[in-house]
Amino acid sequence: MLMGIDLKKVVNNLEDIYKRADSFMLNIPSVCSKGCSFCCHQNITVVNAEELVMTKFINKYFGFKTKETVKNNILNWYKYFNENTPDKILDYDDIFSLGKLIAKDKIPCPFLINEECSIYNARPLVCRIHSVNNSPKECDNDRLRNASTDTFQIKKDLLKEMLSSTPYATLHPLIYSLREYFEINFNFKMIKVITRI
Ligand code: SF4
Repeated sequence: MLMGIDLKKVVNNLEDIYKRADSFMLNIPSVCSKGCSFCCHQNITVVNAEELVMTKFINKYFGFKTKETVKNNILNWYKYFNENTPDKILDYDDIFSLGKLIAKDKIPCPFLINEECSIYNARPLVCRIHSVNNSPKECDNDRLRNASTDTFQIKKDLLKEMLSSTPYATLHPLIYSLREYFEINFNFKMIKVITRI
């Protein structure tokens, strides 16, 4: 994050958007339940500043063991990422192709521990807005299964709001948010900056 930005204000704004997302989802018919984690085996895209909310949660609630587990998961994820992307600056199409492969290979999100989200209360916006309203087992066969149509517009609106109300906001894969925090020394591939949806 750049100097001169009021980080507390940024976090408050993100948490306010999360609150509105959560209250919207309370009124959406859903068959999703705790322990069902098929949709957590795909590439999650986040707004860069969301790492502030995740790391605030990790600092408060993660013990040493959980931190080490997540760090190892991230390392494994990066190895997979590097092995399955071309050696160049990656663009949207590269990330999209990778996402399809991750879903096919059923690679879990680094935060998924024992089939549960270890940062549930601080999970990114796209995770909060994702739900299906029938046949949850179909998500096992298709990890990229679309969320229920009731959620399309709110997801678009809130993501747009997050991008426009956060200084220097960009979109990138979830794991790119956490490399500094977890002090991961790895050969990171560059990704073309995405600032709009
Ligand atoms: S952050 Fe949590 S909810 Fe989102 S994909 Fe990862 S484990 Fe699943």
